[in-house]
Amino acid sequence: MTGKVYLIGAGPGDPELLTLKAYRLLKQADVVLYDRLVGKEIIELIPESAEKMYVGKAKSLHSLPQEEINSLLAAKAKEGHMVVRLKGGDPFIFGRGGEELEELIEEGVPFEVVPGVTAAAGCAAYAGIPLTHRDYAQSVRFLTGHLKDGTTDLPWEELVHPAQTLVIYMGLTGLKDISQSLIRFGMSPSMPVAIVEKGTTSEQRVFTSTIQDVYGVSIENEAKSPALLIIGEVVTLQKKLEWYGKY
Ligand code: SAH
Repeated sequence: MTGKVYLIGAGPGDPELLTLKAYRLLKQADVVLYDRLVGKEIIELIPESAEKMYVGKAKSLHSLPQEEINSLLAAKAKEGHMVVRLKGGDPFIFGRGGEELEELIEEGVPFEVVPGVTAAAGCAAYAGIPLTHRDYAQSVRFLTGHLKDGTTDLPWEELVHPAQTLVIYMGLTGLKDISQSLIRFGMSPSMPVAIVEKGTTSEQRVFTSTIQDVYGVSIENEAKSPALLIIGEVVTLQKKLEWYGKY
């Protein structure tokens, strides 16, 4: 009898941001495949009896190629197991969740998807930066700053738009290019920017600066991945609304 695969978002780090559904399914799992970005405390919730498999990837250091993860999921389910595929944040936001499901469909393996708190929501909340605000931003855009052939390839013109917040995932490596390009396409050099490092965890650090200075600030503070960039006027609220680790 074929088992089932649960593609589950684990949220950005704080284990209490797991959904009740994610928690319940994790506790029932026979096999758990997890990524690098899934928090340590969440891994500790996996039952002793379950087979734990780390398939995560650090940048350009893939411990298992995507195709192999896809087939492993299908194979484990076909052995009759209840398989949990745990991903950082939300599985459908820069998570390749779609690719894994396509393979399951081809293999005739049943599945369910459980959403998670994406890094944008988690980091914004724990940094004290509302992504929208009636006075500052009526829209928010999620982008990946992941480099293709060593350069970032983003629709710069559309990004320099009033009353819009930009949230850039995987933006640290390309930060110099990203900040220079935004200014070149007309963004004010004084546009506020926040870098949120290891958001929602006990090691969270938040650095606020401007698009002109953000690269220097990241170097000075040795900002490390995982880090999220939030760009927009809403970042000015951080000073006032910051709460995490404060009260
Ligand atoms: N599916 C995930 C995103 C995976 S892409 C989600 O929905 O959140 C990986 C990128 O997410 C990282 O490079 C970083 O930009 C961001 N990220 C994930 N967890 C984070 C965290 N705790 N703090 C800051 N950024 C994080």
